[in-house]
Amino acid sequence: MKFKPADAIQDLQFFGEFGGVNPSISDTSTYTFMSAKTMLDTFEGNTEGCYLYSRHSTPSNGYLGEALAAMEGTESANVSASGMGAITPVLLQLVGSGEHIVSSRTIYGGTYAFLKNFTPRLGIATTFVDITKVDIVEAAITKNTKVLFCETVSNPLLEVADIRALSALAKKYNIKLVVDNTFSPLSISPAKLGADVVCHSLTKFINGTSDAVGGVACGAQEFIDDLRNVNNGASMLLGSTMDSLRASSILKNMRTLPIRMKQHSYNASFLAHKFEADGLKTVYPGLESHPSHQLFTSMMNTAYGFGGMLTIDVGSLEKANALMKLMQERNIGYLAVSLGFYKTLFSAPGTSTSSEISEEEQKEMGLTNGLIRFSIGLDNDIERTYGMMKSCMIELDIL
Ligand code: PLP
Repeated sequence: MKFKPADAIQDLQFFGEFGGVNPSISDTSTYTFMSAKTMLDTFEGNTEGCYLYSRHSTPSNGYLGEALAAMEGTESANVSASGMGAITPVLLQLVGSGEHIVSSRTIYGGTYAFLKNFTPRLGIATTFVDITKVDIVEAAITKNTKVLFCETVSNPLLEVADIRALSALAKKYNIKLVVDNTFSPLSISPAKLGADVVCHSLTKFINGTSDAVGGVACGAQEFIDDLRNVNNGASMLLGSTMDSLRASSILKNMRTLPIRMKQHSYNASFLAHKFEADGLKTVYPGLESHPSHQLFTSMMNTAYGFGGMLTIDVGSLEKANALMKLMQERNIGYLAVSLGFYKTLFSAPGTSTSSEISEEEQKEMGLTNGLIRFSIGLDNDIERTYGMMKSCMIELDIL
């Protein structure tokens, strides 16, 4: 049967302490025990349903984790204080000194910097590859490789990873496939296609109101338990715990995610087709000209479309900066990093979210100076928005 992530979320039922339709918030850092013996058993992980200390787990974080696991179709999930706070413990849990990661070279700048600059200090090496070329990915795997890492839809180039093929590779070499699905929640369900762990920055589409930072790792119960192990769990020991109040607010926002994703996708698809017809160099997985259009189609949960992210290349950084400034002055959107807001957000990744990547490497991966990354908003009248964007482009001689 086809996986229906929105139904999986909707079918969850959480009640508050007094029969509230929203679950109660556990506004506490520590928990009492009826006996010292139960406390010890809980420390050792032998008591179901008992809470110990909120860095380990809380009921509110549990509800949000359950909803995210339902969305991704995994057994369990662990929420964290940020997307980086989810990705970094997952990698450190799976890979140790002397071991190796094969990673896509087009990933979020922060994750890239972690793998390129930080993990070598711990004796962890990473080989960066073009993730769209499965033979190159396979050639990079060594006897020390423990993890294959990629983003389903990459930041900022919108390259699409073939999750089924990468999962087959991971199984062949007995390594774990870790996928960051931040750009394509609901549209693609990587765990259903064979990924072992699915991470998200909740800061983006899933929360959707640009008022919170959060993250999640979704996976098998055993792995999530490992992350939270009091003796050697990377999430527990590195401490990037989400606050319960925040978990509660993100859970409430998440209920509208299916509706929002449909609108983000509809609006982005409308603009991408118009921009391309106008002769702009446009990248959007929903365009037939996208090299991985068929691949995305073969992996997607159709109802949610091709997502809210698109890029255009206006030729130079000067033009990109002038266009973004003008679009902000006309209130078309905001010149800001991040994504998944009700307003359109735009930035030039080469000088912002991917600035951790050296100029030479940016060139090699095709990240040009004139590239503008758009997170298309929930605009009610996208035709009107298109008209406003087009006049800005005409004024600046871009069109
Ligand atoms: N993954 C992707 C694809 C991102 O775009 C980002 C942030 O921009 C992150 C991870 C990191 O998330 P956070 O900022 O919540 O730590």
